[in-house]
Amino acid sequence: MSDSFPFEIQAECRVTRARAGLLHTAHGIVETPVFMPVGTQATVKGLAPRELAGDLDVRILLANTYHLYLRPGPDLIRAMGGLHRFMSWPRAILTDSGGFQVFSLSGLRKITAEGVVFQSHLNGDTHTFTPESTVEAQLAFGSDILMVLDECPEYPVSHEYARTAMQRTVGWARTAHAYFEQRRAELPTRHALFPIVQGSMFADLRRECAAQLVELQADGYAIGGLSVGEPRPLSLEMVETAEALLPRARPRYAMGVGLPEELPEYVARGVDMMDCVLPSRNARNGCLFTSQGTVRIKQARYREDVRPLDPRCKCYTCTCFSRAYLRHLFQAGEILYAALATLHNVKRYLDIMREIRHAILSGGYPEYLQTVRSAPVEIE
Ligand SMILES: [Zn+2]
Repeated sequence: MSDSFPFEIQAECRVTRARAGLLHTAHGIVETPVFMPVGTQATVKGLAPRELAGDLDVRILLANTYHLYLRPGPDLIRAMGGLHRFMSWPRAILTDSGGFQVFSLSGLRKITAEGVVFQSHLNGDTHTFTPESTVEAQLAFGSDILMVLDECPEYPVSHEYARTAMQRTVGWARTAHAYFEQRRAELPTRHALFPIVQGSMFADLRRECAAQLVELQADGYAIGGLSVGEPRPLSLEMVETAEALLPRARPRYAMGVGLPEELPEYVARGVDMMDCVLPSRNARNGCLFTSQGTVRIKQARYREDVRPLDPRCKCYTCTCFSRAYLRHLFQAGEILYAALATLHNVKRYLDIMREIRHAILSGGYPEYLQTVRSAPVEIE
């Protein structure tokens, strides 16, 4: 175990690459494999931290550096005592590097070896992200786990461009890592920094990138550039390729994945951490994940449906309300709909992760995987 960021492996699957473990952060222990709900603007839309920490028992949240850097800004968040105090969240926080948003959201941008110059999507102001400045912003937030600045190319992209972007990402990771190690030695607080394996959908580039990042002996490793429009089998293949080169003793984080039925697949490929906007975003759009498949709540067949959304779910939404009521709230555009729907969808993801973890710890993961692979995805 690394002294600065201990990761304890409790059990490993005898057939797949799955493992269960404990991440020891400065803001509590996180049981892995873990799904991290996304709080883009320092809030998981529709859920108060009280609900997240209470009924849902979320141990770690993700917040977005790009958005919080632009508004309200790292200086203000630092002055307010860091993100934990600012948003009243006592448990762990992981922040991304902002790279993904700079490359997907912002307008004009110019990439150099030093970093990326971009325009805010809010007001067009020009900003620069460097490997050092994004580490500094994340330290101002007080993140438990920081990500290095990376270049996430769009999909599809040429092998030539993917290589250039990957090499730049490795260079930035070296700079960020050196800067972080120096800053970490000065700080009384405890933080970890993960570099990000890129390489688009090219196995050779993923391997080359992973091999170079491993030399940094980082606290953990992320696999990025997924969920950018590629076919799902390709995302899984890229994770498999990168994972084979990453140190077994360190946590691995697959960024921006996935659908409920994909979570066990990533775990089977050695992934310990995942995040995705799907449970919260889809909830607001009327797409609800249940243990029996997906419910599209606006459908007329739920109009007079007295049953709970998911009879097997123990969340407040499923314990107290009918599908008919949820459909009514959705049709009426009520705020409560978003709150109840998000609560359930996040709970569903966390329940899946708990099942996964339990299966690994009890030695039954291959059987669990078989069962979930044959389960229906949509409610008929
Ligand atoms: Zn529920």
